This record gives sequence, structure tokens and C-alpha cells, in this order.
Amino acid sequence: MSDIIQLLPDHVANQIAAGEVVQRPASVVKELLENAIDADATSIKLLIKDAGKTLIQVIDNGKGMSETDARFCFERHATSKIKTANDLFNLQTKGFRGEALASIAAIAHVALKTKQENQELGTHIKIEGSQIITQELTTTPKGTSIAVKNLFYNIPARRNFLKSNSVETRHIIDEFQRVALVHPAISFSMYHNENEVYRLEKSNLRKRIVAVLGKKTNEKLVPIDEETDVVTLTGFVSKPEFAKKKRGEQFFFVNNRFVKNAYLHHAIVSAFDGLLSSGYHPSYFLYLTVPTNTIDINIHPTKTEVKFDNEKILYAIIRSTVKHSLGQYNVAPALDFNRDATLDVPYDFKNKNVYKEPSITVDSSFNPFKTDSNNTSNFNYKREKQPQDWESLYTALETPKIDIHNIEVTPTTDLNLFESENSVAKTYQIHRKYIVSTVKSGILFINQNLAHQRILYEEYLENITVKEAMSQQLLFPLEINFSKDDIKLIEEIKTDLESTGFLFDTSKNETIVVKGIPTTISESQVTMIIEELLEDIKNEIPDSSFSQLDVMAKSLAKSLAIKNGIQLNTEEQENIVGRLFTCKEPNHSPLGKPIFITMELNEIDKKFEL
Ligand code: ADP
Ligand code: MG
Repeated sequence: MSDIIQLLPDHVANQIAAGEVVQRPASVVKELLENAIDADATSIKLLIKDAGKTLIQVIDNGKGMSETDARFCFERHATSKIKTANDLFNLQTKGFRGEALASIAAIAHVALKTKQENQELGTHIKIEGSQIITQELTTTPKGTSIAVKNLFYNIPARRNFLKSNSVETRHIIDEFQRVALVHPAISFSMYHNENEVYRLEKSNLRKRIVAVLGKKTNEKLVPIDEETDVVTLTGFVSKPEFAKKKRGEQFFFVNNRFVKNAYLHHAIVSAFDGLLSSGYHPSYFLYLTVPTNTIDINIHPTKTEVKFDNEKILYAIIRSTVKHSLGQYNVAPALDFNRDATLDVPYDFKNKNVYKEPSITVDSSFNPFKTDSNNTSNFNYKREKQPQDWESLYTALETPKIDIHNIEVTPTTDLNLFESENSVAKTYQIHRKYIVSTVKSGILFINQNLAHQRILYEEYLENITVKEAMSQQLLFPLEINFSKDDIKLIEEIKTDLESTGFLFDTSKNETIVVKGIPTTISESQVTMIIEELLEDIKNEIPDSSFSQLDVMAKSLAKSLAIKNGIQLNTEEQENIVGRLFTCKEPNHSPLGKPIFITMELNEIDKKFEL
């Protein structure tokens, strides 16, 4: 029998290897962005067409390549980043395998333009299916531009396997964010179908996070900073009250590389123990720097996994640092029984003198048998009063922290302590936040904001589905500016938005014209509501049209519900309570928080030891 084993031709081997490196357009985006960073670029531009299916182009102002390197970079295992296997343990660059460009060139039409600083002319190479088509000299600015067209053109099965444009775009944005979030000193921009999606100026970490994830992020961030022998930890976690139902904004970076590590993720989340309701996830942006020889990033081809030498120590450090920071920012309740009890003294008390112990002086001349005509006792139990000290204690109590005088009780009728069980349930508002209502078995505390969210959410879902909503025409239509990408999104959801009561005129350039709004909102809220809605939609990956409607209904309910802190009159309180209990799911807010708590009569009895 003749020999049958042969070496695969390079282009076939490359195509197979490409499967490892390039799963989808987003993989190409990641590799190209990383190459630009490794080339010391300070400005990087990403251009996408049709979710990367037609074009992915990255233009950088980095160090560029010589003519020979420009040709050579498409060879498999061609890299300038490591020379020996030992270098793997001291990696300073993102890339090191020398596989990305070879893989990409095997499955797409690639055009490379590159020029080094000292060169007069740059190099322009076209390569398709691993074959160089043309190579010529060209005028081009310093740096590199790589355009990847028609990805998977020669592997139809792969191309057909790609998801919808919105899903693939989401993946691309994820990769873009992961890179942009570790390099605040580099300016990045991203365009999709010629619409600007991001323009991120050179800045610091906090500003970059806010620029990437939206203005509202700023108030949510609690800084993390810790330096030990084994790790330096910086970044931010979200305050617990901003926890999300989705595990969206969780970014963990090790030596400037986005990494997934379930064990250390657990360390972060466990620092929030007792601070989050079940089903809620904190956001975090944590940056670990560890000595390069204590990690192995070589265990996964797409390199989002990493192995640490000393995982257990890192776990402990991360958990306690995050816990400590949450505590410092006064967001963790004092649940720890081992702590120093003096810490529990409200701050305003700390520097005050505690009143002196009462002193007892005894009248030694006292004779119990001696009767006094004035009938004044000779007992001289004198308790020193120390008026100033008492006063200072009192002022301390009056600070807003424990402001017992400011509890706001807004009775709907005169408080009637002898209310009969059969009478109509009365409602009271306390702290401009909770509606208290009595039921036969006890008392209900209803959070006004969450209750209203539930009511609106169910209303919107119904309106969106059955299409009837009240709208108020605006006398002067509002013109609101949005990015081109946002305008596109608004166009997509326009019909659904209209069924909640919005009315739009045609949009031009970066402006939409709002002619009518739901009767429940005021003009001044419109921009904020639409902005929040867009952000909520972008933060989700809608996998069915229903879920997009659901995201919309949730977002609108959240923005439009009566806020805590608003005083409600009797009628409004009753209206909320009444409507809440006609909802399909009155127990939980659309985002899953409990809407009310009950206190049973027998629990109250127990407290009185009855
Ligand atoms: P790796 O990044 O693992 O080295 P790649 O296939 O991504 O492998 O790139 C191969 C080589 O091409 C790199 O090592 C680098 O020398 C060069 N290169 C790639 N992209 C750029 C770029 N944008 N600017 C300068 N050089 C680049
Ligand atoms: Mg690379």
C-alpha cells in the first residue's frame, strides 16, 4: 500500500487554524485593536460595516511595519513579540502567537497599508485566502491600517452561522469596550456604517469608564485601591443600590487584559454579601496587576482565561479590599459583630462629652427620726444635671442621620386609633417613600416608586401589545439631538414607542422631532426618558422581539414611575394601592425587587409580648 500521509498546504492549515482564532467579526476586531496597541498607537479608529460582515477596518498611528515585515506578518507563527518559549513567562504585549493576521488573511480579503516614521513611502498589500494579490508602494500616514472585507467569504458554513447584525454588533462593541477600558490614555473611535458610535478622548480611568458606559455611571462608582506584594488592585465597583438584574457591566482585567475567572469573580461578588437582593449583580471594573511570571495566559486560544499561581491569596485580597471600600464609602451596613463597638457611635457623638455620671452625696447629719416641719426631705440625692451636655447630645440627635423629628406622617384622614376592622383601609405616607396601609391581618408597607413601576410596566406591556395609549400633542414640537447610531435605534423602535403615547415626526441628521408625548410625562422629562431607554436597550441583547418590548416597558416604567421623596395626597396614595393590587404580579417590581412588606398582627403582638 502506498503512503497516504501528506502535509496540508499552508492556506488549508491557516484556514483550519483560523477557526480557533476567528469565531466571528468581533474576534477580528479584538486582534486588530490589540495589534494597534502593541504597536504603541495613541489613536485608534475602528470602522465597521454590516456588523463586521462586510468590513472591519482598524487604523492606528503606531510604529508601522517595514516593507518586509508587512509581507511577513501574514505568515503563521510570525511575530515580533516573543523570541523564545521563556518569553511567554514575561509577556508585556497582548499578542504573542503570531497567528492572528495569518488566520484572518486565510478567510477574508485583507488590505494592509503601513508606514514607519522614518520611511518616505509606505507599503500597500492585498491578500486573499492567504495569497498575496498585490504589493506596492503607497503614500500613507505613519501607522497601520488593516481592512478586513467579506469575512468567511470562502467558508460559507461559517458565514451562515453568524448571528443577526444586532447580535454581532453587540459582540464587537463588547470587544471594543474591553480594550478601551484598559487604555484610557489612548483615544479611540468607532464607526458603524459611517455612523459614529464612540469617540473616546484620551483621559483617565474614571472618565473613560463614564465615557464608555454612560454619564449615569459616574455616581455609581466606588473606587478600589490596594497595593500588596503579590498584586496591585485598582478600579471601581458599583454601589450596591445600582446592582443590576443582568450581569452586564462586569469587567475584570489582569495586566491590562480582559479576563474571565469564575473564582475571582466570586471573590468580588462575595464582598457584596448581605448588600444585594438575590438575583442582583454588582457592576465592577477591576484591574489587577500581578508579576508576569505568576500567571499563565497561555491556556486558552482566545486568551480570556488565565491561570494564577496564587489564586487563593488573590481571592482573599480582592474580597477584603472590595469589602473595605464598600464600607469606607458608607454603603455597607454594620453587620459585623466582631467590630469595635465604638465605631457604632454616630459621628456627631464622637467628639461630644458624655454627660457626667450622676453624683450621689449623702447628708451625714441625716436623722430619719427627726421630723421636719417644712416636710422637706433631707435626702440629698443630687443628680447633677449638666444642661449644656444634655443640650449637645440633643443637637447631635437632631442631625439628619437619625432625624427622628422629621418622620413625615401624612395621614389620609385623621389618625383614628380605634379604627374598626371593617372600615375602608386607610393609607398614610411616611418618609415620602412608603405608603402604609392596614389590612385585616396587619400592616402593609408599600414602596411608592416600586409599586408605580409595576403598575406602569403592566400598563405599557398592554399598550404596546394592544396599541392604545393616551398622547398629548405638543404645541411646539421638541427637537432632540442624538448620535446617528441612536437615531437608527429610535427608528427601529418607533412604532413601539408610539404605542406608549410618543409621536414622532421624520428625523433628520442627528435630530428627532417629538410631536406628542404620553400624558403621564412632562416635556422636560422627554430627553432623559429616551436616553435612558436607548441605554437600557443597548445593554440588553434582545433575542426576540418580545424581549425588546419588555426592555422598553421596563425602562419606561423605571423612568416614569413616581420617585421616592415625592409627597402624595390621599387620592394618589389610594390610587397607587388600588392599582397595584389589580396588577398581575403585585409582589415584585419589573426588575424583581419586593414592592411591599407586611407586618402581621401576631408579629406586632409578639413584640408587645402579648
Ligand atoms: P502577534 O500579535 O501575536 O504577534 P499577529 O498575527 O497579530 O501576531 O501580528 C503579527 C506581527 O505583525 C506582529 O508581531 C507585529 O510585529 C506586526 N503587526 C501586526 N499588526 C500591527 C500594527 N497594527 N502595527 C505594527 N505592527 C503590526
Ligand atoms: Mg496580534
